[in-house]
Parts: sequence; C-alpha cells; structure tokens
Amino acid sequence: MYEKITNAVEKNSKLILDAERYIWNNPETGFREWKTSKYLADIFEKLGYKLTMAGDIPGFYTDIDTGVPGPKVLILGEMDALICNEHPEADTKTHAVHCCGHNAQCAALVGIAAALREEGAIDGFCGSVRLCAVPAEEGIEISFRQDLRKQGIISYYGGKAEYLHRGYFDGVDIAFMIHTTAGEKASIKKGAVGNLRKAVRYIGVAAHAGGSPSKGINALYAATLGLSAINSLRETFKEADLVRVHPIITSGGAAVNAIPSDVTIESYVRGKTLEVIERENKKVNRALIGAAVSMGAKININDKPGYHPLNNDDTLIELTKEAMEYVMGKDGVVVEGGFSTGSTDMGDLSAIMPVIHPYMPGATGNAHGSDYYIKNPQVACVDSAKVQLILLNMLLTDNAKHANRVIEKKCVQFASKDEYFKRIQKLDSEGERVKYCENGEIYISSL
Ligand SMILES: [Zn+2]
Ligand SMILES: [Zn+2]
Repeated sequence: MYEKITNAVEKNSKLILDAERYIWNNPETGFREWKTSKYLADIFEKLGYKLTMAGDIPGFYTDIDTGVPGPKVLILGEMDALICNEHPEADTKTHAVHCCGHNAQCAALVGIAAALREEGAIDGFCGSVRLCAVPAEEGIEISFRQDLRKQGIISYYGGKAEYLHRGYFDGVDIAFMIHTTAGEKASIKKGAVGNLRKAVRYIGVAAHAGGSPSKGINALYAATLGLSAINSLRETFKEADLVRVHPIITSGGAAVNAIPSDVTIESYVRGKTLEVIERENKKVNRALIGAAVSMGAKININDKPGYHPLNNDDTLIELTKEAMEYVMGKDGVVVEGGFSTGSTDMGDLSAIMPVIHPYMPGATGNAHGSDYYIKNPQVACVDSAKVQLILLNMLLTDNAKHANRVIEKKCVQFASKDEYFKRIQKLDSEGERVKYCENGEIYISSL
C-alpha cells in the first residue's frame, strides 16, 4: 500500500547511511552544530530545496508547498550531540558524541527530504510540509547558553523553544519527529516530564582552614546541607507527579587549606505538569535557602524554565502506531502509555500544537552512556524515514482527512506561543535569596 514511499526511501539509502556516519564522526553539542548544519544544508540544496537558515545559530527549515490548501505539517531532526568523556568514540578534543542518536534522526530527515523529491512523491497531498534541522535538544552546557543569551543571540536554552520564539514554527498545525532507542521495538509513550533548570551559588567567607576556621563561613557545608535537605523532601513528592531532582556540585572549593567560599550547584526539577514543577521547586528552594541560613551563608538561585512536559496527541498515537506497524510488523511496535521521566523540548511544541515523539529501535547501550551506538542504521535511519513518510502521507492525503481530525480533536494547553511563553516566564527567577540585617533579622525570598 505504501510501496511507492518505501521504495523512494530505499532508493536513497546510501545518502541516508552516509549522513548517519558523517554526523556520528562529527559530533557537536547544542548551538555549536555548524558543521552538521552545513553538511545537511548542502544535501538539501543539492536536492533542490530553498532553505531559510537561522543564521546566528545553527539549523534551517524549508517548505514543500503542494499548492493545494490544507494543514502545515512540521517534521524535525535534532542535530546536537552530548558530552561523554568515557565514550570510546567521543571527539578527543570536545568529548562530544552522539550517545542519544540524533545523528540517526538527521539521517532520517535526509531520507525524508530525498524521498519527497522523487517523482510523484507528493501526488494526492494537500497543504504543506516543513522540514527542519533544529539545534540544541539536550539541556547541557548551561553557562555557554547563558553567554549566548547575554549576547542577545538566544532567548531560550532549548533549540525548539528558540525556533518557536523566532517564528520558525508559525502556522504549523501538526509536528512530529522520531527519536532513536536501544529498545527492541518501536515504541510510543503518552508523554514525558518537563523540567526547570537551576543554577545555585552558595557564598561564604574564605579563611584559613586549619588556622582560623572560626573566621570563615563554609559554603561547601551550606551546599551539602542544602542537598541533604532536598533528599529529606523526597518522600513528600507524590509518585504520580513523577518529580525528579538530581543536583550536581559543579564547583566545591578552590584550595584544600581554605574554607570554601564559593560553591555552585546545578540541577533540574522535573515533573509531570508545569504546576507540579512550580510547586515542588518552591520546596526545593526553601530547602536550599534554609541550608544557607543555617550557616549564615548567602545564596543566589537562578531558575530558568526548561522544557514543557511532552503530551503526545492521542489521534497521532493511533496513526503513528499504524505507520510503524506497516514498517516494523505488528509485533515490532509497542504503545506503552505512561510518561517517560526524561524530558525533551518537543514538549514545548506539544504545549501549543498536536505532536508525536515516538521511538524507533536500532541503537544499543545506555542512552547518554559510554556504550551507546547505532547498531542498526537501516532501522534507526532508513526505516524511521519510511515511518515518518507514511505518517505524513496518512495526514495529508485524502483531503487531509486525518490531519483535520487531529486538528479538530486536539487537546493543547495554550492557545498561542505568546500565551505559552508568558506562562513559563513565571518559572524564571534570579537573585539573592537571604538578607541578613544588622539587628539580627533575616529576610528570605523564595521566589
Ligand atoms: Zn535525544
Ligand atoms: Zn538525550
């Protein structure tokens, strides 16, 4: 039934598999994917696409307009790698490596772009298709992104939120992409938790650690008390809310013979809804601040919205399952329901439009780990492109009957991107949280 599509992809399998290898061998972390972006842009241009480049950050998009009125469907491929020092194939200088398989996503996007240029590929389609190579899905290198923000280059730390903010997804009715998994089967979950990013700084007073500790205020002790207080809160997190708080100390002191006076922590606070994240983050901040007060230290907390929880659209789940079953066989697909406790910025798009973010197999090892590889690029890239094109075909043929059904039944939280960005602004706060007064009073600001 979809032979024309699968043949069009197979015909381009060398191009797809070459892209998988090239991008694996040239890993770049978020907002630094210049080589990847250029490589993909060159392929797209050779295929005859006119691109709109983001310009000051990597990535681009292009439109295929059928000339027949109808919905606009966005298909995404993420370009960024992770950092994993222990991975044997990590870049020797940057330690970047594609241990989340985004190289396979980009290769699939190449396959989709190539197949859509084959003769008759979009016959019977209405509406339009936007293909987008997007940067920075992984929420890492926060200080680098803080710098980009200070320079006025980006407003949001996630690539999709940034593209959304810039208007690159304006007019899009439905969006999808496929992530790679090390699982055995193609899989679809109902969604994934969202998150908030924290950067915390405890400021104490340095003094000789042996000679005069009484003159110091130990910021490291304040920080460890803060982490301990968060741990004491864990049993108050409701299981259904899927809260995850996982802080790391990024700087714990400068010299062993001095009382640490400047200690930094980074963390996420994850949860199933924005309300959960907001509520539990207040408790986390209270714990961190209380620890500062107990030591007489200062504390600066910088909270930034991370990713909105992902809510996969129910109608799209149904259609994607069918597309996956066509390629992988009935036993090769599992609809799991439930929420993943990892986060993705596809969640930001799901806040305002119907989306689907399922998984195709083909990887091996632990995601984000040192043993992660794409072991079956045929499945991870070529078959992934087939699934996405079949889904696209389902959505846009037959007068976009299915796409219109998705749009009619859609259940999204925000009517517009402006409404969404205004809401998440409430998760954004920065500054000193404790004030010690001469008269002994202490003022606390948890927000
Ligand atoms: Zn990923
Ligand atoms: Zn990842």
